[in-house]
Amino acid sequence: MSDSKLKVIVIGSGIAGLAAASVLREHHVVTVYERGDRQFATGGQGMCVFPNGVNILLSRGFDPYHAGGVPCKGYRSFNKSGELVEDFPIDFRGRYGADMLMMKRSDLRDELMRTATASASELGVNGDPARVVFNTSVVDLDPDASLITLSDGSIVEGDVVIVADGIHSGLRPKITLDEQQRPKKTGLTLFRISVSAEDVRKALGQLPEWWNPEGDDSRLNILQADDGTHRILAHYPLKHHEYRNFSCLLPMPKDREDVVESWYADGDKKEMLQNFEDFNQQIHSVLSVATEVKFHDLEDMEPLFRWNKGRALLVGDAAHTMTPLQGQGANMAIEDADSLRLLLPGMTHEEIAFTLQRIDSVRRPRATQVLMDTRQQAKDVTVEDRMAKMDYNCGYRGIHEALKGLQ
Ligand SMILES: Cc1cc2nc3c(=O)[nH]c(=O)nc-3n(C[C@H](O)[C@H](O)[C@H](O)COP(=O)(O)OP(=O)(O)OC[C@H]3O[C@@H](n4cnc5c(N)ncnc54)[C@H](O)[C@@H]3O)c2cc1C
Repeated sequence: MSDSKLKVIVIGSGIAGLAAASVLREHHVVTVYERGDRQFATGGQGMCVFPNGVNILLSRGFDPYHAGGVPCKGYRSFNKSGELVEDFPIDFRGRYGADMLMMKRSDLRDELMRTATASASELGVNGDPARVVFNTSVVDLDPDASLITLSDGSIVEGDVVIVADGIHSGLRPKITLDEQQRPKKTGLTLFRISVSAEDVRKALGQLPEWWNPEGDDSRLNILQADDGTHRILAHYPLKHHEYRNFSCLLPMPKDREDVVESWYADGDKKEMLQNFEDFNQQIHSVLSVATEVKFHDLEDMEPLFRWNKGRALLVGDAAHTMTPLQGQGANMAIEDADSLRLLLPGMTHEEIAFTLQRIDSVRRPRATQVLMDTRQQAKDVTVEDRMAKMDYNCGYRGIHEALKGLQ
C-alpha cells in the first residue's frame, strides 16, 4: 500500500459531513460540497452531545468551551406545576470518560467547521484543512465509479464519496436502490425555542431562580403533564448559560398529517403558549419571551438494508433518522465519522469498497439498536432502563473497539 492520500468527496456540511471531514482531513484530501451558503440555517436551538460523541470530537481538536458547551450534571424531573419529582445526578465524565455537553446546534456546527477547516497547528492535529464548496448541490451520484454530478453539470471523481445529505437525503436511493424507504412521521410534534438571558432580564426584570449560572443550573430538566395529554417540556442551559433551550413535545395535531416536514419551519408562539398554559407559570412566562419558535413533526426511518454501495457510504441522518428523544442522532453521526478512520492512504479501489462494507457491518446494527431504544423511550421506561440505554449509548469507544467486538 502506498502512502498517497485518497481524494474524498463529502456531500453536505451538516454535523455528519463536517464531523466526517474533521476525521478524514488527517490523512486525505477532502472536499465538502454544500448546497447552502456559509451561514446556512442550522437553528440556534439546543442539542446534547453525549460522551460517545464528545470523546471522538476531543481527539479532533474540538474545544467544548469555544462551542459554549455547558457540561450536564444529570437530570431532574418535575410535574407540570414545577414540583420536583426526582433529582438524578450523573457524573458523565467519571462514568463515561467525557462530559455530556448541552450546546446550541449552530455553535456545534461552527466548531465542527473549525475542526474540519482550520490549520493543523491551530487544532493540534495532522493533515491539511478540508475545502468546503458552498452554494453547490450534488444532483447525481454513481457510487460504483465514485462520481458525483454538481448542479452546474460538472462531474467530479473521487476515490470515495461520503453521503451526508441529511434526513431528506435525495441521494439515498442511489445507494439503497429503494425509492420508497424514507423517514415517516412518528405522531409527535415539537416546539423548540432558545431564549437569551438578556431578553428575559429585559422582559421580566430578572432571571428565574432556577436559571442561575452561579448556582446549581447544570441539569437537563423535564416537566411531564401526567394528565393523559402526553405533553413534555424539557429545558436546559446553553452557551455558558447565556441562553436556554426549551423543547415542548406534544402529540401531533391531526391537521399536520400531510404537512411536508422541515427543521427550519417557524412555529406559532401563541399556539405553543396555549398548549403549555397550565405548566409552571414562571417557565411559561420565559416561553413568552421567545423571538423565534421552531416547529417540527418528529420523524424516524425504518433501518436501511444497506448504507454502502461501491465506493460510497451513507452517514448521519441520511443513513439513520431517529427522533431526538434520546438525543443520539448527531452522536450517531459523529460515531459514523470516527469509523472513517479505517480508510487509509494508498488503499486501492477494491480495498476502499471492502472497508466501507466493514464499516456498514459494524455501524448499521449499532445505529439500529439506538433507533429501537429511542422508539422505546417514547413509552414509559424505568430509571434503570434509561440508565442501561445510556450505558449502551455513551459506552461506545470507537470503531477499532467495535471491530474487536465482532471477532
Ligand atoms: C428537534 C431536534 C432536536 C435534536 N436534538 C439532538 C440532540 O440533543 N442530540 C443529538 O445527538 N441529536 C439531536 N438531533 C438530531 C441531529 O440534529 C441530527 O441527527 C443531525 O443534525 C444530523 O446531521 P446530518 O449532517 O446528517 O444532517 P443535516 O444537519 O441535515 O445536514 C445535511 C446537510 O446536507 C446539505 N445537503 C443536502 N442535500 C444536499 C445536496 N444534494 N448537495 C449538497 N448539500 C446537500 C444540507 O444543506 C445540510 O447542510 C435533534 C434533531 C431534531 C430535529
